Order: sequence, then C-alpha cells, then structure tokens
Amino acid sequence: MMPQGIDIVFLGTAGSVPTKERSMPSVAVIYDGSILLFDCGEGTQIQMLKYGLNAQRLKAIFISHIHGDHTIGIAGIVRSLAINGRKEALSIFVPRGSERIIRSLIVFDRVTIGYPINIIGVRQGTVYRGRGFSVSAFRLNHTVETYGYAVAEDSKLRFIKERCDRLGIRGTMYSELEKKGIIRINGKGIRLKGITRLQEGRKIVYATDTRPAAGTVRAARGADLLIHEASYKSSEKALAVSRKHSTSEEAAGIARKAKVSKLTITHFSARYRDASQLLSEAKAVFKNTIAASDGYRITL
Ligand SMILES: [Zn+2]
Ligand SMILES: [Zn+2]
Repeated sequence: MMPQGIDIVFLGTAGSVPTKERSMPSVAVIYDGSILLFDCGEGTQIQMLKYGLNAQRLKAIFISHIHGDHTIGIAGIVRSLAINGRKEALSIFVPRGSERIIRSLIVFDRVTIGYPINIIGVRQGTVYRGRGFSVSAFRLNHTVETYGYAVAEDSKLRFIKERCDRLGIRGTMYSELEKKGIIRINGKGIRLKGITRLQEGRKIVYATDTRPAAGTVRAARGADLLIHEASYKSSEKALAVSRKHSTSEEAAGIARKAKVSKLTITHFSARYRDASQLLSEAKAVFKNTIAASDGYRITL
C-alpha cells in the first residue's frame, strides 16, 4: 500500500505585520483530508479560501504563542464556521495559562457558535492524537511562553516484497495476514513478523517564534520537513537576539544539526522586499532550504 501524501500549505509567511505579498502567520498540514492549522494570524480564513482549503475540514488549531500576529485569525474562522452550520467540535491548543485570551477571541459578540470549541492548555509532550499520527509540543525561546509542534506519523508495518514473493503470498493473503497475523500456505504457518519491517512515519516540525533552541534540534531530529522562522538577515542579528527571533542562518544551523531532509523558512520581517537574501544566507549553511511564500505547497 502506498502511503498517502501529507500536504503542507503556507497560508501566511509574514512576521509581525503583513505586506502586500505576505499575509499573517499560518501553516496548514493536511493529513487524510483533515486540516490542522499551526498558528492562525489575521486573514487566515481568507487565505484558506484563496488556496482551496475547506475550513469545515479543520480539526484543530495549534497556537505557538499568544502574540496577536499568531492568534487574531481565530476570531474570524470560528464565526464563519458557525454561520456555515458547523456541528463538529474544534480543538484549539495554546500554551497553558493563555486559554482566557483565546476565549476572548471567541466570545465577544452575539454570534451563536453552534458547535463545541475545546481550548486546551499545552505543556511539553504529546497533545493530540489523530488517525495515524500524533502532535507533540516542545518549548521554544521567545519573549513569551512559546511552543513548537511536531507532527509525527505512526510507524507502519510494511511487507518485504522479496520474502513475500518467495513464500508465494499474493492477493487477499495480505489482508488476511494483516488481520490474523498468520496464514497457512501448503500447511506451513507464515507469520507477519518474518515478512514485514517497521517503517518509521514521516515527521514535520514547526518552530516559530524563537531564538535557535536545543529543543528544536531534539524535536526535529531526522524530520522530513522543518519549518523554522527566519525573521532577519545575519546583519540584523542584534535585533534577532533582542526580540528573540532567528536569523535565516541560525534557522539553517538548526536544520543542519537536526539532520532534517528539508528546511522551509518563513515569518519574514516586513523590512525585506523579498526573501532572496535570507534564502541565500540559509542555503550557505543548509543547502536544501526553501523560502516560503503565501500559497506555497509541499507534498511529502
Ligand atoms: Zn510572530
Ligand atoms: Zn512573537
């Protein structure tokens, strides 16, 4: 069985303030038709429309930290979902202690929200289990309490084709083996264990806003994709330090230490007209880097 694609769509790639080309921070991860949002800056619902994501498929929103550029979009999304008749529950994850601020984005007018919204305070560790994957939180280093998130697909048993062929396994025997763990061919018992291997699932790690953090390296080790903020060029490192952000070079350093397959940088300061210099500085450290733009999509 071929694993299905995991799609990642960058909905907003600006930091702090939007530009004409870049909307406020939000990244969608689409797994098995379900949408998970990582941060929800102002205008996220419009970006979802623009890039063809059906908000009714939204299962959960994971908020990195309480700064308005990462949260204000919640107010619009929860209303539109209500008006469009949503019944299914929506979960919103937020650093523990900030639940009330999120609540204030939901309850401030007379719109009736006709579906449950669960606001869940996050600490480090596994915070969410979906079908076939889980999401865990890890601590970042920013001016307020901030978490990164790792989406990890469950490991799966895969048949070792040569062994199966040699033993004459074919057709419906595979599903029978998966169900019973053993089948008999010519009187001989064949167990799942001898003809399968455990394949590790794919992993996507989201880290913004933050200084370079050891926790990110740990969480991202061997990841298929690291999404890391790169607010500044290295010539503005002093700003990155004082505002607790990262330069693109620092983001690339994390990707390199964690030995990820791919790095995508995002959350660019509005002072840069384009991300080309940020990208070339990052690429000098970690070659397989891409600078995200709004609407950019990766399929893993
Ligand atoms: Zn930010
Ligand atoms: Zn921030």
